[in-house]
Amino acid sequence: MSQEFEEREKSNERRNHDPKYAGAPSRRRSGDDGELIDSLNRLDGRNYGGYKSLIGDWDYGQFSLAIDRVQPDPYAPPSAMRASAKIEELGLPEDCVGTENARLATADYLVRLFHKNIKRFARPKVVNIAWVGQEILERSAAKVSDGRVEVRFQVQLPARGRTIMGQTAAAIFDHDIPDIVLESFDFYSEESGVANLEALRAHVHAYEDYCALLELIHDRGWIAFVANGSVLARHSGISQRALEGAVPFEAPQSVEETVTLPHAGEVSGMAISPGITVIVGGGYHGKSTLLSAIERGVYAHVPGDGRELVATTQAATKVRASDGRAVTDVDVSPFISHLPGGIDTTTFSTENASGSTSQAASIVEAIELGSPLLLIDEDTSATNLLIRDARMRELVHPEKEPITPLVDRVGALKAARGVSTIIVMGGSGDYLDIADTVLMMDTYQCLDVTGAAKAVTSSQPRERNDSAEFPLASQRIVVRIQSNSDRPRTKVLGNDRVQIDKRIVDLTDLAQIVEQGQTEAIGFAIRGVVEKLADAQTPLPDLLDKLEAEINANGLDALCTYGAREFPPFLVRPRRIDIGAALNRFRGLSIKGE
Ligand code: ADP
Ligand code: MG
Repeated sequence: MSQEFEEREKSNERRNHDPKYAGAPSRRRSGDDGELIDSLNRLDGRNYGGYKSLIGDWDYGQFSLAIDRVQPDPYAPPSAMRASAKIEELGLPEDCVGTENARLATADYLVRLFHKNIKRFARPKVVNIAWVGQEILERSAAKVSDGRVEVRFQVQLPARGRTIMGQTAAAIFDHDIPDIVLESFDFYSEESGVANLEALRAHVHAYEDYCALLELIHDRGWIAFVANGSVLARHSGISQRALEGAVPFEAPQSVEETVTLPHAGEVSGMAISPGITVIVGGGYHGKSTLLSAIERGVYAHVPGDGRELVATTQAATKVRASDGRAVTDVDVSPFISHLPGGIDTTTFSTENASGSTSQAASIVEAIELGSPLLLIDEDTSATNLLIRDARMRELVHPEKEPITPLVDRVGALKAARGVSTIIVMGGSGDYLDIADTVLMMDTYQCLDVTGAAKAVTSSQPRERNDSAEFPLASQRIVVRIQSNSDRPRTKVLGNDRVQIDKRIVDLTDLAQIVEQGQTEAIGFAIRGVVEKLADAQTPLPDLLDKLEAEINANGLDALCTYGAREFPPFLVRPRRIDIGAALNRFRGLSIKGE
């Protein structure tokens, strides 16, 4: 070890950087990769805690490696690092970094490239980066900003028992990590760079086309668009990859429109207009598949997914029945007028909703949060909330039946609240009279049967019970709560559940939360809203707007204010409306009384 290096180590020790989280060591070293490798070799045989001395910034020449957090023992979560470099060093051209959209897509692509190169270059189970699905999303795992690219990942530092395996560690930092980083930061070399750049461009183009399509949907007054040739069916119930050999989507001529996109050029497909759209058809003919694609159309998809040019207005909300969920002071009176025991349905709360009350609450909450489009599938709905036929109206007296089914309210929802509905309904013809458009799925082909449906409704009329109004109570104001724990705990439990101190928030019924990283981000967002932003004056939707503004300004790292550890590696941006829906399911939510 050179004397100069020893000097610097000492002075680094004295510098005593302040870490923002508990248990971090009080110094941050710096040096070049050679010094890092030397240090690792020298740590061989020492106690595991010795790895802490690596915290610091290491200069590999073409990139720098920040070791931000080191696991205290071999069984703790792996150590946290960031690799970063100047954009020029990667050879990234302007069209991939010049706009906010391009930067988001490039960052998303970098995470995917890291995945690929971890598989190629890292020994098993040593290097780890956030999981990615079929959607192109804002992720804390990678960012392109201020002239730099940064990727966050984790490394399992090797040990025999609790003893440092210095040579293995040195090899990981001398080979595995630089190989992964350099191959993933290469958009210029003949070997990998050219191919990386080509795939990156396809990724950026897919994202830019999707964003352009969204704007067109908005400009032309539609709510969703499904391009001809799209593959909507998925590989299986547990895989979101495209189904090979699926029948590609073709728009019925009556609703076919053409748009011009920056990269794909002229594209035709089905434009769905505001209003009430009913999807009918026989069982197993592709109804739910179409609705699911529209549901996921709130996100951009990776090239090859099949749904790249399916786009849906951003705050569209899938609502379903979810018995057992909590409801806090929601005005469900448009659907439920009275309940046994004289419960007030304008401020309805329960720890354990029934199917119909849960879905009624979810609809009202979505409207409160400003959703312009409800997506409903009979498969996942409470039948008694959707329909009630003449026979049942006669048998069960109105005084005994508190529910006004959606079929009687869906028209008013559009007329009075401007909220559209797309509903899959194969089991009842009751929605045919009120539908603006009726689409039929027939052996995976989409047909416009609006005219035929009108003929049926006039030959077999039913008694209408439509309500003209859709009354709602005023917006709910959130009361601030204090975390009752000295050591706040925010922990994601799989894709669908997040733990906030002792409470578990179940998000299983929120179909548009598509990655665990969104669930994790939602955990911190809930904390932010109820513990910091809520002030007993601001309505829930406005609190979400404040949070959005913070995330827009500072990225997902804004959630560090609400308990996320510094440089979080796994967060994925959730939609504002899903954060709101999650808050509504949080059993600690407290609403100001009258
Ligand atoms: P429904 O809701 O009408 O009962 P689904 O949408 O659930 O039907 O589709 C039934 C099955 O057909 C699913 O396994 C789905 O993946 C498959 N499927 C849907 N659309 C297509 C298509 N375009 N090509 C091939 N298979 C499809
Ligand atoms: Mg179905």
